[in-house]
Amino acid sequence: MKKHNFSAGPSILPQEVFEKSAQAVLDFNNLGLSILEISHRSKDFVAVMEEARATALELLGLEGKGYKALFLTGGASMEFVRVPYNLLKENGKAAYLDTGTWASGAIKEAKRFGTTEVIASSKNENYNYIPKGFAVPTDADYLHCTSNNTIFGTQMHSFPETNVPLVCDMSSDIFSRELDFSKFGIIYAGAQKNMGPAGTTLVIVKEDILGNTGRNIPGILDYSQHIAKESMYNTPAVFPVYTSLLTLQWVKKNGGVAALEKKNNEKAELLYNEIDRNPLFTGTAKTEDRSKMNVTFLLKDEAHTEQFDKLWKEANISGINGHRSVGGYRASIYNAMPLESVKVLVDVMQEFERTV
Ligand SMILES: *Cc1c(COP(=O)(O)O)cnc(C)c1O
Repeated sequence: MKKHNFSAGPSILPQEVFEKSAQAVLDFNNLGLSILEISHRSKDFVAVMEEARATALELLGLEGKGYKALFLTGGASMEFVRVPYNLLKENGKAAYLDTGTWASGAIKEAKRFGTTEVIASSKNENYNYIPKGFAVPTDADYLHCTSNNTIFGTQMHSFPETNVPLVCDMSSDIFSRELDFSKFGIIYAGAQKNMGPAGTTLVIVKEDILGNTGRNIPGILDYSQHIAKESMYNTPAVFPVYTSLLTLQWVKKNGGVAALEKKNNEKAELLYNEIDRNPLFTGTAKTEDRSKMNVTFLLKDEAHTEQFDKLWKEANISGINGHRSVGGYRASIYNAMPLESVKVLVDVMQEFERTV
């Protein structure tokens, strides 16, 4: 029986995406060939890549605004490296917001390239909030932030106004809400949280911010070269890109990012209301910074762990154990998560309250 999958990543995708991608493994476009055995330069796959790139920009409202979408490999972690390589000048300075494990991973890589200023951090409280009221240095080459902190269950609900290019790791909330995406110079997102299987990263680049570092950038790390080669600099991750396209088509068919945002708000509200109401649970993130994608919570009394775990497992729920750096529970309620599954979890929490 299909489980209610609250895994943080790789994670749930729409059921129809699983079905269509499985079909393409057997026979893609009635070619008599699997998608796994065709050339990435074949007409059929080039069409997939073009549509995926165009649909990503369309869903974010970025068509015709000087942006290019790429589907690269190496995970979001590779962009921790590509970003400073492409934007941090030889004697320049990068600015970073430290809001969690992934943000600090990005900072670690930037430091290898040059001066890296962490302008605000929430490390002092185990990243349970988003820092506010900081100043962005006007002489920075860029400011890097992480819109949703997958591990800690916090999310940026507003972004700094700044004159420097804004770079954002949106791995775990891409396509989940409306924003003015034209505020960003680079947006990147590993596919495996909200878009597709592991193996490709969506990178959206505003072309006019490139080419200013004076660095001799290796080809595979150079956004300009990936743009020039239309995201085919080397063999792309054919199957993850195809599966991501199926998800993007699903997003579009379901009313786009605005409609999904409404559903995501409903799911998050249902679950947070229960966490706040139920005397046995407590949320870990500061209320105003709570994530609508990853809901982190604890049992007030850990002695009840076994009992609660038994109940959710019996309810066919999977993947809600918290990350080791927070403990407790984390329910990831990405775009593809139906409201029904969140209701099952809430029912289990209420059942637990009755029986404990
Ligand atoms: C999962 C995650 C990453 C790491 O992604 P990889 O594809 O494994 O490199 C980076 N940033 C955020 C916000 C994530 O959630």
